[in-house]
Amino acid sequence: MSIQQIINQLKKSNHILLASHTNPDGDAIGSLISLGLALQEWKKKIRTYNESPIPAVYQFLPSLHLVHRTVGDISEFDTAVILDCSDLHRIGEAASDGAKIPAIINIDHHSTNTRFGNLQYIDPNASSTAEMVYRLISAMENVSIDRGMAYSIYTGIMADTGSFRFANTTPEAFDISHKMVLLGADPHKVAHHVYETISLNRIKLLNMLYDSIELSENGRLSIMTLTQNMLQTTGTIIDDVSGLINYAKQIENVKLAALLFERKRSPGKKTGSDFHVSLRSEGAVNVAAIATSFGGGGHPNAAGFDIQATLADLKQTIFHFSKNL
Ligand code: 5GP
Ligand code: MN
Repeated sequence: MSIQQIINQLKKSNHILLASHTNPDGDAIGSLISLGLALQEWKKKIRTYNESPIPAVYQFLPSLHLVHRTVGDISEFDTAVILDCSDLHRIGEAASDGAKIPAIINIDHHSTNTRFGNLQYIDPNASSTAEMVYRLISAMENVSIDRGMAYSIYTGIMADTGSFRFANTTPEAFDISHKMVLLGADPHKVAHHVYETISLNRIKLLNMLYDSIELSENGRLSIMTLTQNMLQTTGTIIDDVSGLINYAKQIENVKLAALLFERKRSPGKKTGSDFHVSLRSEGAVNVAAIATSFGGGGHPNAAGFDIQATLADLKQTIFHFSKNL
């Protein structure tokens, strides 16, 4: 599917819903805002939507006020653009209503993308969805990338490449980031907000997280656990877990790291809690395949899924994967 087909669809659209995945990371937010701003340049009526609150570390981004937590009247939209979502359900509860929007454009870089929607622009080789949005905006007539778009695109690329450290740190990622910096995105300002502003409570939580790390017998798998109890004890709100798991992955010899995040505590011990499991791997270990087998998805080296389980059972299930490492 070509970018031009997507541009043609956007051109003839009157009211466009833009949405990205729940519990958004920098890429989900950056791609959402930058495309929203570009479509506003085209004088399109738009609504940018994310079900979850925007994490505090991204609150500095210009034009965040554009992002709504409700979709409004779904029948008003003729087109939806779904960003950074490997399947439509990733946008949250609005997915079933959203599916009724006549034209659905799917823009994503996850290798596990289900190819939902009427028009797809999927590139697993792209560092981020923000990179793909950059290419799209660059192909839109009469839109020049302003400072606000530059900040959003830069932040998306920086977040998804782990500050230009992960395997998706390509020449294109650097090239576009360079352009965004020339257009006004200040790398120091972004890093300062995203990485260097941390509360004492968060440090105390990190302490507990480090303490929670367990290794498999062969030392190749690490599990880190984040419970509601820890959040309550430290008085912390977790709105973005994506950075935390890297501490468990840094351990020498670890090939696969898991973060078990208890999103909702179980009422009774037997029923189990609602967990989000984040997986990270080194080299050839494909965590997207593991996540997909549990109904989730992601990239070969970074993936996730949701599961209801007791903590003990979940740990056992995850430790099982150390045998193949
Ligand atoms: P994280 O561990 O930061 O939540 O997610 C890592 C990667 O896997 C991200 O690219 C994210 O979009 C994807 N991912 C995480 N959880 C899920 C899930 O439940 N379903 C799908 N399809 N992808 C997920
Ligand atoms: Mn992404």
